Amino acid sequence: MAAIILNNINKVYGDSFHAIHDLSFDIKDGEFMVFVGPSGCGKSTALRMVAGLESITSGELIIGGRVVNKVDPKDRDIAMVFQSYALYPHKTVRENIAFPLQMAKMDKAEINKRVEDAAAILELTSNLDRKPGNLSGGQRQRVAMGRAIVRKPSAFLMDEPLSNLDAKLRVQMRAEIAGIQRRLGVTTIYVTHDQVEAMTMGDRVAVMKAGVLQQVDTPQSLYNRPDNVFVAAFIGSPSMNLYEAVLDGQTVTLGSNRIDLPEVLFENRPSLRGSSHRPVIVGIRPEHMDDATVRPSSAEISAPVTLVEALGAESMVHLSIDAPWVDAGDPDAIADIGDQKSAVARFSPKSGVRAGDTARVAVDAEELHFFDPDTRTSLW
Ligand code: ATP
Repeated sequence: MAAIILNNINKVYGDSFHAIHDLSFDIKDGEFMVFVGPSGCGKSTALRMVAGLESITSGELIIGGRVVNKVDPKDRDIAMVFQSYALYPHKTVRENIAFPLQMAKMDKAEINKRVEDAAAILELTSNLDRKPGNLSGGQRQRVAMGRAIVRKPSAFLMDEPLSNLDAKLRVQMRAEIAGIQRRLGVTTIYVTHDQVEAMTMGDRVAVMKAGVLQQVDTPQSLYNRPDNVFVAAFIGSPSMNLYEAVLDGQTVTLGSNRIDLPEVLFENRPSLRGSSHRPVIVGIRPEHMDDATVRPSSAEISAPVTLVEALGAESMVHLSIDAPWVDAGDPDAIADIGDQKSAVARFSPKSGVRAGDTARVAVDAEELHFFDPDTRTSLW
């Protein structure tokens, strides 16, 4: 087991493409750290540098107290699990899992013991003599995990290991991988573009954008106290709704709506006190809006309803808010949500609003987020 420390790591591809900028943080011994961010943000590059599959342009990488910048991948005492399982089709599950130990010329009895132990942990015991072609996607991914586990490495590095699985299996496997990691207590770095995967699996999550670390924190802190607009919009689904607004004393003006802010908000964000005609970016999470006729609130706005998606337990209500919408800079979110200019609210299923109505929307004003429009960082 080992702590992993990144000190001002940079990666420049070729002569000019600066893919990673001054990446620094510590991963504690036994910690499950997730790297998350949109496509191209550099999360795989960062992981591959830790693995030794990519050279480090500058900075220092320390694994288990040893600077390993120039150490060969095979001598870093780490095991990688990839998106493609990279299993040998003609070998049995047992032979696939045993392979790295055979390469290390380990004693046969010890290999058998380690393979049996890993198979038991991964519930693969009854499949040990089958070939990968006869296994389900989830079972194949577990064999790939088995190959990593048997080596008893000081760290696991996983690059989108679940992206070839269907949605249901992903949910099941993410719980399994997180459970196994916790049981084994092996320091793990896990790369994904999926914020839900990041939030549910990581002890801490590092959010990256365009090669720059935005914030590293526990999932709950990223949700409650995002450092900037990008993290605020990236974490949470559907995304936080972000609009340009004006703060004046205890009131924020959002287009044609005015919201009175409670005292507790100023206790949490003292820098907002005493503002006069101050331009701000306001963030409202979908879960902090509801139908005011079902759940009355002291803070209320009204907005035309453009679409209602009834999901059973809740309804996603798209609202046309007449304030300038703020682009959070996450290219993936735009593709996901489509009509970005509508705000999305999670209404109770008891709401009877329909497209074309003007909804009275209760806002949980205590939970509003505020950002500086120039720096796009949180105002506290
Ligand atoms: P994805 O989720 O799409 O894999 P990512 O966040 O893992 O994205 P990386 O694969 O680390 O991103 O790539 C980061 C940036 O570096 C991208 O702009 C990519 O095009 C660039 N890049 C990656 N590998 C190379 C390479 N070998 N040569 C030049 N540029 C590269």
